[in-house]
Amino acid sequence: MKATITVLPGDGIGVEVTNQAMHVLSRIGTQYGHDFTFHEALIGGIAIDKTGTSLPDETLTIAEQSDAILLGAVGGPKWSDPTAPVRPEQGLLKIRKHFELFANLRPVKAYPALAQHTPLRAELLENVDILFVRELTGGAYFGPRQEQGDGDSAYDTMLYSVPEVARVAHVAFRAAQGRSKKLTSVDKANVLASMRLWRRTVGEVHEDYGDVALDHVLVDACTMYLMTRPASFDVVLAENMFGDIITDEASVLAGSLGMLPSASIGAEKFGLYEPVHGSAPDIAGQGKANPTGTLLSAAMLLRYSLGLEEEAMALEQAVEAALVSGARTADIAPRGGSYISTEEFTQTVIGAL
Ligand code: NAD
Repeated sequence: MKATITVLPGDGIGVEVTNQAMHVLSRIGTQYGHDFTFHEALIGGIAIDKTGTSLPDETLTIAEQSDAILLGAVGGPKWSDPTAPVRPEQGLLKIRKHFELFANLRPVKAYPALAQHTPLRAELLENVDILFVRELTGGAYFGPRQEQGDGDSAYDTMLYSVPEVARVAHVAFRAAQGRSKKLTSVDKANVLASMRLWRRTVGEVHEDYGDVALDHVLVDACTMYLMTRPASFDVVLAENMFGDIITDEASVLAGSLGMLPSASIGAEKFGLYEPVHGSAPDIAGQGKANPTGTLLSAAMLLRYSLGLEEEAMALEQAVEAALVSGARTADIAPRGGSYISTEEFTQTVIGAL
């Protein structure tokens, strides 16, 4: 097949990890007879420096003409003033909204070989393989707000409509059907009206998915269960802000932020794929970045936007094989042990392919 992929490296290690993902995708193209074209464009701090805005119109035009977006990370100390009118992360929020990418999929898998990098006992990590589905374009991050007002008060509004909840619930139920047919919906229905609407709507959508077992959990309890019995979760659905928080909490189960991929998808096949981590200014430019999160994001791109399941699985298995063979970037190396560079790790994955 022919596919065009917009690559938005962004800032810091975003540049290094997207570069590696392009190598791997090119390799998969050659191996399976696909023609992948990459179009690079600007987002984040580098876009602010070059154009004055974090998401130039040209980037949106390029992305609109492509099949999917692969993004690195945005931000860094140079643009970190939270009161600046133009900030790198605005580009991210804008691009998700522009393409109505309302569902954020974040798989979190615990690799036994990395158990020593987590604060949990190894036995708690056995069989941990969770798919988080986070609502991405609603709730308090997008609801009506008053930034400063009179300076004495401010508010954000957690606003959800039934269609907004229903469409992301459908994504989660369908994902659960393809896995172990178990869905946990996270809310705070005991306190928040918007979360009572959430629980009611998820329950209504459940009527279409009789083969999936649904369970509602309050977000505060969920944060605790994620640490005390993480293997009991399979697909977890949460609204935007709760999803933001619990997925970062769950990221510790994987051993390093560098391991985690994500996909932001909408009603169509088009999607945006990015590692969960940020631009990691502390290690940028040193060849120390773990490219796994981005490589696994590229696998999700193959699966969801291009419909290439076999290729996606081949890439995921190659990453796992590299880890099993002992390939370690600095963040997942044994304490005091040796490690390989970003590029060497990618070459090991390519070798396994
Ligand atoms: P970060 O994720 O960039 O880094 C946190 C820690 O994890 C650092 O010690 C870093 O070295 C390490 N780390 C992250 N990714 C790694 C990888 N692939 N391999 C090895 N180690 C890795 O978070 P931060 O330090 O809080 O933020 C840095 C900048 O990134 C900030 O400007 C922040 O706003 C931005 N940020 C962007 C995104 C995004 O683009 N989606 C997400 C989070 C943070």
